Amino acid sequence: MEIFNYLAEHNHEEVVFWSDKTAGLRAIVAIHSTVLGPALGGCRMWPYVSEEDALLDVLRLAEGMTYKASLAGLDFGGGKAVIIGDPARDKSAGLWQAFGKFINSLHGRYITGEDVGTTVVDMALVHQSTPYVVGLPKTEHGSGDPSPVTAFGVYRGIRACCRACFGLDDLRGRTVAVQGLGKVGAHLARLLAQDGARLVASELNAERAAKIALELGIKLVPPDDIYEVKCDVFAPCALGAVINDTTIGRLRCRIVAGAANNQLADDQLGFELAERNILFAPDYVINAGGIISIGSEVGAFDAQTAWHKTSAIYDSLLRIVALSREEGVPTHLAAHRLAQARIELVKQEHAFFAGRPAINPK
Ligand code: NAD
Repeated sequence: MEIFNYLAEHNHEEVVFWSDKTAGLRAIVAIHSTVLGPALGGCRMWPYVSEEDALLDVLRLAEGMTYKASLAGLDFGGGKAVIIGDPARDKSAGLWQAFGKFINSLHGRYITGEDVGTTVVDMALVHQSTPYVVGLPKTEHGSGDPSPVTAFGVYRGIRACCRACFGLDDLRGRTVAVQGLGKVGAHLARLLAQDGARLVASELNAERAAKIALELGIKLVPPDDIYEVKCDVFAPCALGAVINDTTIGRLRCRIVAGAANNQLADDQLGFELAERNILFAPDYVINAGGIISIGSEVGAFDAQTAWHKTSAIYDSLLRIVALSREEGVPTHLAAHRLAQARIELVKQEHAFFAGRPAINPK
């Protein structure tokens, strides 16, 4: 990998590697942008096959966080951390302490939190070595599990997409196919069921699936069949890259709108969805409830405001759809342009004030 070329092409500010042999810590932090504020983004722990995989993952995730914060109207930049390790085997108090020291050494340019493979309990341990961590348990005055807020944002986003596609955001009688009934998927299914949507779902954990299906009257299908369910909305709430060359031709939906990060295996698929007349809700827009929720811990706004800001995902999506129609580009590109526009505006403001002479008080 041509690392400096990649950083220049994607405008990353900083990448830091940290190794602590005694604690068994191998971590990378990527700070993509601090134009809007300190870089905020979770810490992923994953048994990456190679160091290059870990590096590429952290770079891509950090960039995504910049656009997510920008479109959510937050005064945060984008960053991310990865720890190379197996979350089921390699966690220890020493590891979290060493990770906390690493984060502290960045003096607040990056604020960490939970992500895939890490939990609010882990973040409470990180908090022993640094203040620059959010997503703490409620018992530690944190915002707790962000999943309910994320699910609410996805629900609002689905309604906006229905309005854009069908002229009405009423979900009564609409069929939604939810992939994954985990923390976000289950909350989302509850909100959709309350609005009278017909639900079909797939979930790898059969016991969990059966329990939620019974509670909400969901029709379950085997995991691989979810792509072919004839529905109004396909809501990926499990893994990334589920819209790929193999699955795209199998979709029988009008809208793809779900919580999973990085749903498009590559950007070209955003063009293909548009050609197939399928409206795509860019994932970093619709799933921003989580970052809004943890962002409330930094003190600029409270938990109640976090729900209001998350509700506004509805308006963001309508703006993105309008721009996509006006400019004849797919929604993922329209979202990127809007996110970039806010960052450019703030950059110009910074440049203006930097070039202005200080006022001399008499
Ligand atoms: P989770 O691990 O609680 O839920 C994922 C569920 O998907 C699990 O129950 C798992 O068994 C199921 N699953 C995995 N592969 C599947 C498959 N092939 N078919 C059907 N089911 C499958 O995770 P979560 O917190 O609910 O997050 C879901 C997605 O949303 C993830 O991609 C996550 O990165 C993203 N996300 C979550 C949040 C949040 O606040 N939790 C915020 C933003 C984005």
